[in-house]
Amino acid sequence: MLAPFRFRVNAHGSVGSVAGESFEPETPKPGWVRLRMKAMALNHLDLWTTCGIEGVNLSLPITPGCDGAGIVESVGEGTTLPPGVELGGSVMIAPGLSCGVCASCLRGNDMLCRDYKVMGHLCDGTAATHVLVPSANLLPIPGNWDFEQAAAFPLVFLTAWEMLVHKAKLQPGETVLVWGGGSGVGSAAIQLVKFLGGRPIAVVGNQMKAMKCWELGAEHVIVRSTEDVAKKVKDLTQKRGVDIVFEHTGAATWGASVAAATRGGRIVTCGATTGRETTMDLRTLFAKQLTILGSYMGRREHLWTLLDHVRRNPTNPPFRPVLDRVFDLMEYPQAQVHLEGGEGFGKVVCRM
Ligand SMILES: [Zn+2]
Repeated sequence: MLAPFRFRVNAHGSVGSVAGESFEPETPKPGWVRLRMKAMALNHLDLWTTCGIEGVNLSLPITPGCDGAGIVESVGEGTTLPPGVELGGSVMIAPGLSCGVCASCLRGNDMLCRDYKVMGHLCDGTAATHVLVPSANLLPIPGNWDFEQAAAFPLVFLTAWEMLVHKAKLQPGETVLVWGGGSGVGSAAIQLVKFLGGRPIAVVGNQMKAMKCWELGAEHVIVRSTEDVAKKVKDLTQKRGVDIVFEHTGAATWGASVAAATRGGRIVTCGATTGRETTMDLRTLFAKQLTILGSYMGRREHLWTLLDHVRRNPTNPPFRPVLDRVFDLMEYPQAQVHLEGGEGFGKVVCRM
């Protein structure tokens, strides 16, 4: 077993510029537990936390990492554990922390809480051997998933579910253009669109990723290096365009997203990995009667919904996390660089 160890962002720098250090794990306070971590998964938020975000003042030092899975090692005094979770048992982490008592939290919209914090971004995260987390953020690991798969599941599936089901309100038979089909959230979205009866059209950077999107259930795949995405969408939809555009890439793709959406279509976005500023002809917005929807994470409750769908058919679940590459925790800085490179397909994970 590893001696207690964690990665820290002491000052913002380039991707991978995190420092490893040993530390003394704290005793969990009431309502919290301590996990001995077995795996953590990276998200683009790890890179933002490391490099800093213009206009956002993060409190440093901080341990990055939003997603993780491990074993309940210690439980705070008087703490109740969620159903299916026990001391010594295996769990995965719901990455969003909220106050639990404000109007948004009481309505179940915890991601709208003014105190909402994603682990590894506004509070210490999962790139560590030991992690403190509220008991309410624990979920049992479904079926026969290993720790790496469990760690790779919560953030991207919760994000994609919120975007498709609760923001864009996907209806059976609708077409959905999924940018970055090879990314963690893109590979989740393709599977969820299919599960919800929609028709996913994935966009990827190369042929290798295209093959994998087919395997995940994409109805069509567009390789953006060789095809004009908006034009190809029109060809594939008899000039109609798609009902929903699943955006998370931002500046580089926004124009094509607007062009690819059908009249009355919805563009739902949760990210801006290629740039955060773009322009838009407002005449297009109203003339095409488009709806633009912003989304960030999702209700913690819906992770339990997703879990139920997996548990109903554990040997052949309707969706599952796609793993790109598993690093050792000690290689977390290299894992960040690998994620930024964008050559992989699916989630980048570190194993403890
Ligand atoms: Zn709240």
